[in-house]
Amino acid sequence: MPAIALAMASGILPGCGEKLVAEDESNVQLALPAWPEKGQTGDAAHGSIERRDGRGSRVRLAWDVDARPSPVTEDDLPGATQTTVAGHTALLKNGLVTWRCEKSKRLFRLETTGPRAPEIANLAAHVRCHAEPMLTNGDVPAAATSVLGPQWRFGARGRGSISWTRDDAVLTFFAAQQAAGPRDPNAARKAAPAWIAAAGLTDPAVDGARETAGPQSHPALEVRGSARLEGQPVHWAMLFWRCLQRQRSYAAIVFSQTRPDENALLSARCHG
Ligand SMILES: [Zn+2]
Ligand SMILES: [Zn+2]
Repeated sequence: MPAIALAMASGILPGCGEKLVAEDESNVQLALPAWPEKGQTGDAAHGSIERRDGRGSRVRLAWDVDARPSPVTEDDLPGATQTTVAGHTALLKNGLVTWRCEKSKRLFRLETTGPRAPEIANLAAHVRCHAEPMLTNGDVPAAATSVLGPQWRFGARGRGSISWTRDDAVLTFFAAQQAAGPRDPNAARKAAPAWIAAAGLTDPAVDGARETAGPQSHPALEVRGSARLEGQPVHWAMLFWRCLQRQRSYAAIVFSQTRPDENALLSARCHG
């Protein structure tokens, strides 16, 4: 048996310096250093796995269900260089590589810190993010019916999203993510189109973005604009916010042919 096949069969993978051990966790196959401190949270929809050597070096892979249909772009990690992980477009910057797996509909972040951390490209080369089928949809906010009002009807539950409808209006909450959302109105403008596409719209145009009050008193960023739904023009408004209680980032959108009802966005309940 060739040395590499033997190493794979024994669960020990060739690496530069640190020995890597094959892991299979929450529909992700990867290889991590054989370090003594281990961390593991969540499930296939939202989770992370990490290893620490106890002397300041760490490797961590985190993932979240992500409804956005497009690959990551430079706006997701300004200053990064483009690379590939498991066939997906990925961004690499300072020991961090991030990519969106359109097959399992998840966003991944692989991070290394410390002097003994293996080369991140070597770790990335061992990641299999879509080897197994996904069966979970993700952690979407609930809707407070007292805020939403009785006319809204449950619409659909998809991978990483949940929707309600009222006449021609559609309200969609996206699943929570561990990674931080956009930091300011300008970043929110750039982040909006990928979410607009996830809501099923095309030809997004942004009119404006501003800071505002979000659901459950969280500070939020609001972006407004227009797009098309099956060729017909629609107007949309969306919110980005971070829930400090749950340490998760959220995105929500409402659209309709006329001015969308932005209050519907405030019905999202991310915690408590
Ligand atoms: Zn993948
Ligand atoms: Zn919250």
